Amino acid sequence: MTMTLAPEDEAFRAEVRQFLKDRLPAHLADKVRLNRELTKAETEQWHATLQEKGWLAGNWPTRFGGAGWTAIQRHIFEEESALAHAPRVLPFGIAMLGPVLQKFGSEAQQQRFLPRILDGTDWWCQGYSEPGAGSDLASVRTTAVRDGDHYIVNGQKTWTTLGQHANWIFCLVRTDPAAKAQEGISFLLIDMTSPGITVRPIVLLDGTPEVNEVFFDEVRVPVENLVGEENKGWTYAKYLLTHERTNIAGVGFATASLAALKRIARAQVANGRPLSENPLFAARIAEVEIELMAMATTNLRMLAQAAAGQAPGAESSMLKLKGTQIRQAINDLARRAVGPWALAFPSEGLEGANDETPPGPPEAAAAGRAYLNNRKLSIYGGSNEIQRGIIAKSLLGL
Ligand SMILES: Cc1cc2nc3c(=O)[nH]c(=O)nc-3n(C[C@H](O)[C@H](O)[C@H](O)COP(=O)(O)OP(=O)(O)OC[C@H]3O[C@@H](n4cnc5c(N)ncnc54)[C@H](O)[C@@H]3O)c2cc1C
Repeated sequence: MTMTLAPEDEAFRAEVRQFLKDRLPAHLADKVRLNRELTKAETEQWHATLQEKGWLAGNWPTRFGGAGWTAIQRHIFEEESALAHAPRVLPFGIAMLGPVLQKFGSEAQQQRFLPRILDGTDWWCQGYSEPGAGSDLASVRTTAVRDGDHYIVNGQKTWTTLGQHANWIFCLVRTDPAAKAQEGISFLLIDMTSPGITVRPIVLLDGTPEVNEVFFDEVRVPVENLVGEENKGWTYAKYLLTHERTNIAGVGFATASLAALKRIARAQVANGRPLSENPLFAARIAEVEIELMAMATTNLRMLAQAAAGQAPGAESSMLKLKGTQIRQAINDLARRAVGPWALAFPSEGLEGANDETPPGPPEAAAAGRAYLNNRKLSIYGGSNEIQRGIIAKSLLGL
C-alpha cells in the first residue's frame, strides 16, 4: 500500500526499488519472507551491500558517512525494503548508538567507533534492561565503580538482542548508588571480549536464541569508554530511545505480512471454498486492512509534521500501539488460516523437511513462526501498556 508523495520522493522510491531488484539476493529475500533466522554472515553481507551504496546509515548526517536522508526518505527505504523482504538494518549501531555518539560522544569516540559501525568491524548490542529494570529502566542495578583509569562493572543485563554475535555492548550502569534513580546512571561502552563477561542464550517461543542474558563479573572498562559525563547517562539513554522509536509503525512489515495472509487465505480451502471467500474470514482481513490504511496515512501525516520541524511527541506512542496491534492481528489471522500446520515451525519438528517442501499449505511454517516471534512486538520498545499510559496522560489529559 503506497501513497502518492512529492515527485522527488517518488523518484527516490523508484531508485530504492531498482536497487533492491538488482542487489537483494533471492535466497536472502526467501529467508526473510519465510521468517527464518538469518546467520550473522547474512546480516553482515546485506549491511555491506548497503554500505557500498552509501545507504547503510540513512539516518546519519553525511559528515559522519551517512546518507543524510529526510524522514520521508527513511520511511520509503524501510517500506520498500520490507515489501522486497530485505533483511532489516540492525538498529543497535546505526539507529541507536550512532546518533548518541554523534551528539554526546567525544571526538576521539566518534573517530574510533563510527567508521567501525559502518564497515561492519563492530556488532553492537543494547545493554539497557535488567531483571527488575525493564519498563522501570531507572532501576538499573549493574554497578560501575571507578578504580584509577578503569571502571569495575558488576551485574546483569537481560533480553540482549543478538548479543551472541556482538563484540561491543552499550550499557546503562549505576555510578552513584546514593543519587536519585535517574541521576546516578552512566552510559558505558564495553568490549564484549573483556574478561568477566558471560553471554547466556534465552530461547524464544519460536525456538530461536534471539535474546540473551549478559553477566558482568569484575569487568574492567577503560574510563575513556564513558560517553559524555558521569551520572548523566539518563539524558543520553532517553535521546537514544527517541531514535529507537523511529519506524515504529512498521507499515512496510504489516503490508508484506498482509499480502502473505491473503496468499494463504486464497490457498487454504475450508468447507469446499477458499478461505478468502468465507464471508467471516474475508471481513476480518478487510477490517485489519482498513486499520492498516488508516495507520499508514497517520504515519505519513506525522512524517510530514516531522519534516516541518515539529518533534514527534506522544503521537509516536499511538503509532507503536496501533502498528504492533495490526501486525499481531495479521499474524493471528495467518496462524488461524493454516490451523494445526502452524505448529510445524521448529526445524526439529520438520526433521529434514525445509520450507521449500513444507508440510501443509504454503507459508504455514512461516505463519507459525511469525505469530510466535511477534508476540515480542507489544513488549519491547516500551510495552504497549506503557504506551497507553503515555497516550492517556499526554494526549487525552487523563
Ligand atoms: C524480544 C525482545 C528483545 C528485547 N531486546 C532488548 C535489547 O536488545 N536490549 C535491552 O536492553 N532490552 C531489550 N528488551 C527488553 C524490553 O525493553 C523489556 O522487556 C521491556 O521494556 C519490558 O520490561 P520487562 O520485560 O522488565 O517487563 P516489566 O517492566 O516487568 O513489565 C511487566 C508487565 O507489566 C506491565 N507494566 C509495567 N509497568 C507498567 C505501568 N507503569 N503501567 C502499566 N503496565 C505496566 C508491562 O506492560 C508488562 O506487561 C527486549 C525484550 C524482548 C521481549
